Amino acid sequence: MEEIKIEPAEEKQLNFLEEIVERDLAEGRHKSILTRFPPEPNGYLHIGHAKSICLNFGLAKKYGGKTNLRFDDTNPAKEDVEYVDSIKEDVKWLGFDWANEFYASDYFEQLYIWAQELIKKGLAYVDDQSQEEIRLNRGSVTQAGKPSPFRNRSVEENLLLFAGMREGKYAEGERVLRAKIDMGHSNMLMRDPILYRIIYAHHHRTGDKWCIYPMYDYAHGQSDSLENITHSICTLEFDVHRPLYDWFIEKLEIFQSRQFEFARLNLTYTVMSKRKLLELVKNNFVTGWDDARMPTICGLRRRGFTPESIRLFADKVGVAKRDNIIDLSLLEWCVREDLNKRSNRYMAVLNPVKLTISNFPEGETEYFNAPVNPENPEAGSRKIPFSKDLLIEKEDFMEEPSKKYFRLKPGGEVRLKYSYIIKCEEIVKDNNGEIVEIICTYDPSTKPGVGEWRSVKGTIHWVSASHSKETEVRLFDRLFTEPDMDSIPEDKDYKDFLNPKSLEIVTAHVEPDLFADKSIVPVQFERLGYFIKDSDSTGDKFIYNRTVGLKSNFSA
Ligand code: ATP
Ligand code: MG
Repeated sequence: MEEIKIEPAEEKQLNFLEEIVERDLAEGRHKSILTRFPPEPNGYLHIGHAKSICLNFGLAKKYGGKTNLRFDDTNPAKEDVEYVDSIKEDVKWLGFDWANEFYASDYFEQLYIWAQELIKKGLAYVDDQSQEEIRLNRGSVTQAGKPSPFRNRSVEENLLLFAGMREGKYAEGERVLRAKIDMGHSNMLMRDPILYRIIYAHHHRTGDKWCIYPMYDYAHGQSDSLENITHSICTLEFDVHRPLYDWFIEKLEIFQSRQFEFARLNLTYTVMSKRKLLELVKNNFVTGWDDARMPTICGLRRRGFTPESIRLFADKVGVAKRDNIIDLSLLEWCVREDLNKRSNRYMAVLNPVKLTISNFPEGETEYFNAPVNPENPEAGSRKIPFSKDLLIEKEDFMEEPSKKYFRLKPGGEVRLKYSYIIKCEEIVKDNNGEIVEIICTYDPSTKPGVGEWRSVKGTIHWVSASHSKETEVRLFDRLFTEPDMDSIPEDKDYKDFLNPKSLEIVTAHVEPDLFADKSIVPVQFERLGYFIKDSDSTGDKFIYNRTVGLKSNFSA
């Protein structure tokens, strides 16, 4: 995955949506373009939505157009203001501004009037069949549907019954309003689709004003049209809905928004259905929507992903017309790419073993200079305390190493990063044979910046035991163990594939300056990866989340 090609922006080919927009503008079909991002406020946004946001806002921005944020709030039972608020926060955080904030529920009255108009044109009718009858009579792909016995009601009767539906005269499921199209249509969605159903539920915006609610297909295209959306971009599964989208617009003779479909984003080791993510939250498989292992935008934010890295990812993924699955490591590559330029560096030891410098004076401290960020000279330098008692990573020492092992070994030398070359003289073990202390000598002539530079093959990170501070560190692995979560066997549940080792908590010893760090992006713990301070931290307890390792940090 490290070999991802970066093409200079100007050499990039237009994607098919950009081609369409350029043609529409060139032909004068539209003076400017207007897109929309239309989330249903029934959950938190995830990385798939981020793709759609970047696409809709990005396309408009590129061609001097605008984008509306429209809440598709036509299903009161599942929706909530909590979700509305989180969606706005996440879109803003990603770096986008909407031209208008709209709600499909703002259009309920107009949609109702248009439904009456369809009735008057003989293009809609009230059906008394049960849901089950409607389903059965719809037929199948190979068999035409059976017209409802209520299909030929008079306009007057339909208007009266529809008004009665609105007034709450009937029970849920007793009646629906359907479009009158073609029960033999090859596209099942065109076989008299339902426009309205009765739901007695409190709506987070319209309260109890309505007890009939429009179906997605009826509400969506008309909302687009009301807002003069020029390019209504949605995911591929809606391509069979397009004839219906166009049918309503044509029959109602309203602004001709057009729908275009692109492939939804799928990621390896990830589920993205809001229903499943909600279930993970409700059943405490994760700590919340913003658990740092979640693919939600708030989860990624808490994990340390930056808006820049997510926008870069959306760009790299591109716009496809066919479904595919993107490697999670591309997302990680993008955040490394961004953070490498911006992160302040510190040293931290996650799994420590004591290392004593036998020939360094007891109680003395020496300070070494190191760059805060070698990629950015303006970030300045930091001072790292060195003393007789140090800590290094257990895995940076091997008693019986292979030939290719260049870190510390008995009798061997390494350089302590920014500091001296040391030599391992002796190891101390406890009763169980565990190494508890490594005794080394240092070579004073190898002080950086003094005398001639001497090279050794290995360089390891370290901290001074008494100067370092303890902090909790959360290390993450993939939330699921299966790469393609969309093709798990029928008899299995996606939760069977939850990774029991997706979270590991350790106590790290870190360079003291970390605690004064003011950066807003994650810091780099040298050789270990990028880490961000978690919101669970308190005044005296620091908690860091590992955003990502410097290389892929997944267990094999
Ligand atoms: P879910 O099925 O999980 O509830 P959804 O598609 O119904 O997701 P919406 O809130 O309706 O969620 O989505 C808002 C917009 O985001 C839609 O235009 C939808 O096409 C787009 N979107 C949702 N998921 C993805 C994805 N994985 N990749 C790209 N776009 C997506
Ligand atoms: Mg949806």
